[in-house]
Amino acid sequence: MPAELIDGKAIAAAIHQEVARDTAALVARGVVPGLTVVLVGDDMASATYVGAKEKASLAAGMAGSTLRMPSSTTQAELLAVVERLNADANVHGILVQMPLPKQIDPDTVIRSIRPDKDVDGFHPENVGKLLIGHTDGFVSCTPAGVIELLTRSGVVTRGADAVIVGRSNIVGKPMAALLVQGRAGADATVTVCHSRTRDLASHTRRADILIAAVGRAEMITGDMIKPGAVVIDVGMNHMPDATRAKGTRLTGDVHFASAAEVASKITPVPGGVGPMTIAMLLRNTVRAAERTLS
Ligand code: NAP
Repeated sequence: MPAELIDGKAIAAAIHQEVARDTAALVARGVVPGLTVVLVGDDMASATYVGAKEKASLAAGMAGSTLRMPSSTTQAELLAVVERLNADANVHGILVQMPLPKQIDPDTVIRSIRPDKDVDGFHPENVGKLLIGHTDGFVSCTPAGVIELLTRSGVVTRGADAVIVGRSNIVGKPMAALLVQGRAGADATVTVCHSRTRDLASHTRRADILIAAVGRAEMITGDMIKPGAVVIDVGMNHMPDATRAKGTRLTGDVHFASAAEVASKITPVPGGVGPMTIAMLLRNTVRAAERTLS
């Protein structure tokens, strides 16, 4: 395997340490960064993610808590909870875990969160700030984590051809906005591919930096990658695997073995982009708390 591994676990651990240091500095000034995660319903995967977020925030010295609401919760009840958290000075970051039960409109909920507490970076005000290059908003955690992986692995983005496969609001689109940013931004030339893209491989083969955020297990194979490219695999696909105790294994959107033969650097799944998402959530929460002092 000629490709060098980009170790997301190690990079995320370094960010957790930085967050703990910044949190301690805030606590010394009388502010304990507070992150409240709201979980509606009993989706097992969501409960696992939320538990990990609370645990990580507590480990960093923050006031982390989870508000659990039943799956029968109405939209009005959830909006009332968000309103209360918006007004609570001890809560600096609010995250409503998706997906929500079908009686609740996720866009209405996202719009109800105060933009300066929207540490997920999904509120239209924060998305708009990202697009126009204002740095006082919050950036969606997964794409922000990818930028950290690239920067801390010494990948030169300026002038690079970056190709993103996937155009979702939580990964592909904010990823494109971050990579194209000038003025001390990544300064890359960006192509965004999706399910209507003709001849996907003709685009991916041009990429100096290839980012896969598709949600299709091992779809990007080595023959679709330019020799020497940097490959970032955002995909998290739970595939059936009878040999595992859980009955599934986690697989990325990139066929790792063939991609690692041609890439210069590559993220593994698990242990690549995954650990970065919580690290960036904590960093956003510390920033939200810091901004209350300025
Ligand atoms: P999503 O909302 O389902 O979006 C998938 C995107 O891929 C869409 O834009 C879709 O195109 C495109 N696509 C689907 N099939 C394609 C094809 N055959 N060729 C080209 N493009 C295709 O997914 P997402 O929320 O962005 O997530 C993507 C992956 O990242 C998933 O595996 C998810 O689990 C993972 N993820 C990981 C993290 C993390 O922390 N590591 C965080 C978020 C997501 P259309 O727009 O045309 O439908």
